[in-house]
Amino acid sequence: MNKILVVGSIGLDSVETPFGKVKDIPGGSATYFSMAASFFSPVNLVAIVGQDFPPQHIKYLQRKGIDTAGLVVSPGRTFRWKGKYEYDLNRAHTLDTQLNVFANFQPELPADYRDSKFVFLANIDPELQLDVLQQAKKPKLVACDTMNFWIEKKKPALRRVIKQVDILFINEAEIRQLTGQSNLVKATKIVFSWGAKIIVVKQGEYGALMFTKDFVFSAPGFPLEQVYDPTGAGDSFAGGFMGYLAKNGELTEKRLRQATIFGSVIASFNVEDFSFNRFRTLTGKEIRRRFKEFKNLSHFEESL
Ligand code: AMP
Repeated sequence: MNKILVVGSIGLDSVETPFGKVKDIPGGSATYFSMAASFFSPVNLVAIVGQDFPPQHIKYLQRKGIDTAGLVVSPGRTFRWKGKYEYDLNRAHTLDTQLNVFANFQPELPADYRDSKFVFLANIDPELQLDVLQQAKKPKLVACDTMNFWIEKKKPALRRVIKQVDILFINEAEIRQLTGQSNLVKATKIVFSWGAKIIVVKQGEYGALMFTKDFVFSAPGFPLEQVYDPTGAGDSFAGGFMGYLAKNGELTEKRLRQATIFGSVIASFNVEDFSFNRFRTLTGKEIRRRFKEFKNLSHFEESL
């Protein structure tokens, strides 16, 4: 069984959507990713929290089979993010970001994490993504995510990360910002020229496009009646995608297409509730059923 190494943020989020408001709930890119990937594959987690982080959340990750030997609990305050969504749930407005213990974090991989064949550099300071990459020994597949915050503040380091990864997960506003190119196809060509081999462009409720140099695959957005909180949708997508690839161990076109749908399936469940609450009750049966519904959603016959 392939384990996935993930480095990313774990934090306490305060989120406001048109449907409610929550304060200091567990969030962060590594949290959503790990929870999502754990439906398919075991996860080795590298992150940092402060002493104020409620231990029951760590215990919950452990119960999900997530290895937390690489999770540092440090004196100081946990990373905090405050965001708001208007009626257009595709756009998160960041109200406040407090890096706190992340400001001085030096990630160190436990010895048995170093051989992980699948590595995910979740949304976090690109310098930390690079640190982790240096310690990993010959991974088979490396993917990364990022966001506007780091594109603005650490673009050169982010370019160095992209040079070394196989897959970049990014949303459409971010790839436009990153490349200065508004046309998505042209923007992916720019990122391909920097070194990435596969680019997954997330389009919020409208789905996702996976670009490789040979083909493009489109996953629709699942028409959901109930969307409470889109926070973590991107990380959950990446978790479902990477979790499924790690489970099969194959990087064929067929698996990549399926992984894009599993990513969409897991993300579609995550947005049905605040924090990762929907994952608490989610079953394998529900995941498989929605995978089939995705197939029906965009299946059509050849025209004669
Ligand atoms: P997304 O999947 O893009 O909705 O990711 C949402 C998560 O990203 C939230 O739970 C936040 O805690 C986390 N986050 C927000 N800003 C940052 C940042 N600058 N660095 C790392 N993680 C962040």
